[in-house]
Amino acid sequence: MRVVILGPPGAGKGTQAELLSKELGVPKLSMGDILRKAVKEKTPLGEEAQRYMKEGKLVPDELILKLLEEKIEKVAEDAGFVLDGFPRNLRQAQILNNFLESRGKNLDWAIYLKVGEEEIVNRLRHRLICSKCGKVYRKDEIKQDRICEECGSQLAKRKDDDPHTIKERIKVYFEHTFPLVKYYQKKGILKEVEGEGKEEEVYERIRKALNLSQPLT
Ligand code: AMP
Repeated sequence: MRVVILGPPGAGKGTQAELLSKELGVPKLSMGDILRKAVKEKTPLGEEAQRYMKEGKLVPDELILKLLEEKIEKVAEDAGFVLDGFPRNLRQAQILNNFLESRGKNLDWAIYLKVGEEEIVNRLRHRLICSKCGKVYRKDEIKQDRICEECGSQLAKRKDDDPHTIKERIKVYFEHTFPLVKYYQKKGILKEVEGEGKEEEVYERIRKALNLSQPLT
């Protein structure tokens, strides 16, 4: 199954993409993680991308495509994938569409995680991520030591989760990414899922929307 996950920043795309990719047994590709890795490794593309990321802007398509090139080629060969954070605008969506079509493949579903603006801001302000594996936590749900329960690394606030950048990212989302909801609706592959509530509840809604048969144990 080939799936993309859409939604505003803080909607839980990464978390849900991880759960879905595990259940489907297909790779997850997170554009944000790929970019953050490039920034951390100080590669030339990472250094350039960082300028846009720290301002909450979209990284230019050409840069995104260069970073994605090899990875998408590889996952397109697999039985499926879950994409988080790509596409983020209409041009990227069309590029993905053409890329798959030229290989005789297609996207099965676009899941739109719907979360209200107040909830987004609240989540982003209280979000911590693992500096190593990227697992996301809420500040009020973790123990004092701020250590990742998965890999034992230190948790930290994301650089772009400051109030000014959050505001910009939400603006950019409505301007560039939200139109994809209509784009995929027209293609008849949109599944709108209520993104508020606990992550397990949201995931159950995704499973239902995709008709994944067995309930989680
Ligand atoms: P995310 O982790 O998905 O919230 O992405 C963090 C930041 O990376 C965004 O605010 C953008 O600056 C950049 N970014 C991630 N995915 C894309 C994309 N597909 N196109 C352009 N910029 C992106």
